[in-house]
Amino acid sequence: MGDRRESLRGRVAVVTGASSGIGAAVARALADEGVGLALAARRADALREVRDGLGGGPDSIAVPTDVTDREQVEALVARAEAELGPVDVLVNCAGVMYYTLMRNLHEDDWRRTVDVNCTGLLHCLAAVLPGMLERGRGHILTISSDAGRTVFPGLAVYSGTKFFVEAVCRGLRLETAGTGLRVTTVQPGNVATGLAGHSHDEEALAAYGRPSGARVLDPDDVAAAVVYALAQPAHVAVNEVLVEPRDEPA
Ligand code: NDP
Repeated sequence: MGDRRESLRGRVAVVTGASSGIGAAVARALADEGVGLALAARRADALREVRDGLGGGPDSIAVPTDVTDREQVEALVARAEAELGPVDVLVNCAGVMYYTLMRNLHEDDWRRTVDVNCTGLLHCLAAVLPGMLERGRGHILTISSDAGRTVFPGLAVYSGTKFFVEAVCRGLRLETAGTGLRVTTVQPGNVATGLAGHSHDEEALAAYGRPSGARVLDPDDVAAAVVYALAQPAHVAVNEVLVEPRDEPA
């Protein structure tokens, strides 16, 4: 059959959460494919470091952005369009995860998780959707989680936000069928990043946050799934990708 992948060269993508982990790996993979990138996250220094590490290829810009702030997200997309061109691809990687037990009432962690994972996603969708619909093409890909399919104890609120991600993306996909838009969720299992390192509910971490000992995914494994989904021929939609460590099926 041969490789049916299409070239991504010359496309323009906004990648949120690009300052570390999966987002940084996606940025490197897309730059290697010849995609011009607007990299977004809050930590300006880390973001610049990722951009400077991309080497040659098309222009890429680092735009410090808090996705919970609607105006900052609008400014991000406006700058991407002005400096790189119309946005073909949005990759939503920004996210937080805190291990908490419901009974311990870590309400600030709950709120933060909803703000970033749910409201942040909506801000990003809203900023690119009108342009994509007007142009009759575009791809919105969101790093969801296997927690968007299965609820994990110790991660009830986080799982809830990822179910939200799945529901919104599915609804968007159904409503926009026929417009040229593609909507993908990538659902990783455990990936070796600093994501879980911000948790401070020690009881939840002890009960549910301990490594199983299985070889977990590398950020580059997830980035490869992202490139696979983005590079399909125009009539093909890879709507969901569940990618987990071999020894940790959920
Ligand atoms: P990281 O902590 O390395 O990355 C999270 C990214 O989100 C960082 O770049 C961070 O940048 C950014 N971010 C957090 N809050 C905001 C905000 N308010 N505005 C903008 N950017 C923000 O972890 P991962 O790479 O693992 O996480 C990326 C995504 O992958 C998340 O959505 C996560 O839920 C998902 N995922 C991760 C899994 C894992 O096992 N690691 C498994 C399944 C899904 P900064 O701090 O600079 O703002």
